[in-house]
Amino acid sequence: MTCTHLDQIHDVVPSAAGCEDCLKIGGHWVHLRMCLTCGHVGCCDQSPNQHATHHFHETGHPIVASAEPGEKWRWCYVDLMFIK
Ligand SMILES: [Zn+2]
Ligand SMILES: [Zn+2]
Ligand SMILES: [Zn+2]
Repeated sequence: MTCTHLDQIHDVVPSAAGCEDCLKIGGHWVHLRMCLTCGHVGCCDQSPNQHATHHFHETGHPIVASAEPGEKWRWCYVDLMFIK
């Protein structure tokens, strides 16, 4: 099985220095994920608000990358798989 959504990712710059939705509501996050379609920075599923997953459900943007220093992986929400 391969991910067919790689044509939906672009060279993006992070939208914020932290989870932009948590920054708006004063929330906190555990880890950060960046949407590779639009650059939205959201928090991971271990975070209370899970904004990265919410962003996928709202926009359909399929692929996020870890925004944590030293982490290089990407994840496709549609295929539920890591992408090399
Ligand atoms: Zn995919
Ligand atoms: Zn958040
Ligand atoms: Zn996005």
